[in-house]
Amino acid sequence: MKLEWTEPDQQFLSELRAFLDEHTPVEAANGFDFQGEANGDAIIAPWLQAWQAKLFDNGWMIPGFPPELGGRNCTPSQTMIYLEELSRRRVPRATHFPGYAIVGPSLLEYGNDDQKTLVSAAIRGDTIWCIGMSEPDAGSDLAGLTTRADLDGDTFIVNGQKVWTSYAMVASKCFCYVRTDQQAPKHKGISLLIIDMDSPGIEVRPLTHINGQAEFAEVFFTDVHVPVCNLVGELNGGWAITQGSLAHERAGLWVDGVARLEQTVTSLVELAKANGCHDDVGVRRKIAAMHELASSLRSLGYKGFASYAQGSSAPEHSYMKLASSEAGKAAFELGMEILGPYGAVTDALRGAENGRWVNSFYISFANTIAGGSSEIQRNIIAQRVLGLPRN
Ligand SMILES: Cc1cc2nc3c(=O)[nH]c(=O)nc-3n(C[C@H](O)[C@H](O)[C@H](O)COP(=O)(O)OP(=O)(O)OC[C@H]3O[C@@H](n4cnc5c(N)ncnc54)[C@H](O)[C@@H]3O)c2cc1C
Repeated sequence: MKLEWTEPDQQFLSELRAFLDEHTPVEAANGFDFQGEANGDAIIAPWLQAWQAKLFDNGWMIPGFPPELGGRNCTPSQTMIYLEELSRRRVPRATHFPGYAIVGPSLLEYGNDDQKTLVSAAIRGDTIWCIGMSEPDAGSDLAGLTTRADLDGDTFIVNGQKVWTSYAMVASKCFCYVRTDQQAPKHKGISLLIIDMDSPGIEVRPLTHINGQAEFAEVFFTDVHVPVCNLVGELNGGWAITQGSLAHERAGLWVDGVARLEQTVTSLVELAKANGCHDDVGVRRKIAAMHELASSLRSLGYKGFASYAQGSSAPEHSYMKLASSEAGKAAFELGMEILGPYGAVTDALRGAENGRWVNSFYISFANTIAGGSSEIQRNIIAQRVLGLPRN
């Protein structure tokens, strides 16, 4: 069997490569490794914001969307070509995912005509959005959220607290899930509101990551007034939208995760050679096992994408997210082991490769939590893939 791209797909790839060769920002020319370095002191690096707008204006932000939404109406296979080329070059689209990955697609599906006018600025990155889902007692069990919105005439009055809200300190709008029916079963009393972050009664307190960055925050709402026209979808119909949001996030996540794993395996080989342990049987076996896993994941990802492109569900994506995030963590830990004591040093002067291994190791934990933790992915696989009963 001979597998190759069709003529239009090859043409698409050539155009993409020509665009990236000419326009990739100098900051990403050698690949984009971890956010801390790329952003400097900014929560969202200015060069990344300009890059997102350029991608949008040239139809390369979400190629499957029409030109007015930053795309070029490409096919699912071409979307795959696009994602692969970006991840192969380690060129990001944007670091602040909420607007283009969650808010834009969700408003297209559930928003009214007025709300749909917000979509292009969300995808172009002109409006910074944050997602208010998690709360101190509602993370994995999102349906347990208690931030409440009480309808008073044509205004919702919002009270409560969100946590781990990425980009809340710089966002101008929040896609916020609130409880609007206190009596209904917990999945049935949730609504989605668009909340302006400069509304009186909102307090944002940044939270610092283990790597010293403060990219997410706690957000407190005290008698915040939100016009009823900011309700997205049906009153008490928010749960369906949470499911949609996460699906938008997951469909394309695996390509980047697998590409990052493959690149880390390549770096591990170089690291082992440079540190004289490339002939150590234990190190060789561990690196080989990671290579084997990365290759299997790529194949499984293609299988899942094929189902997705044909309109079927792709339960493989839960496994891809689980396996690539856990393997990423193990790979960075192995890099630190190979380096010995210097592997754990974060400062640029003494840490090997600018502290790359330990910083990436820290961030790798976040990948096993955000968008559904590893334990939750295992529960999904147990129930939906293996047909085991709910525990
Ligand atoms: C980098 C990053 C960015 C994030 N950005 C956002 C954002 O922008 N907006 C937002 O709303 N949230 C955001 N989150 C929060 C994220 O969605 C939650 O952290 C996640 O859903 C887990 O919830 P939790 O932290 O409350 O942990 P919990 O749900 O309290 O879980 C604690 C531990 O218990 C395990 N556990 C929980 N339930 C089960 C179960 N049923 N079976 C087995 N094990 C279980 C979990 O796997 C975990 O190990 C972000 C998180 C990270 C790491």
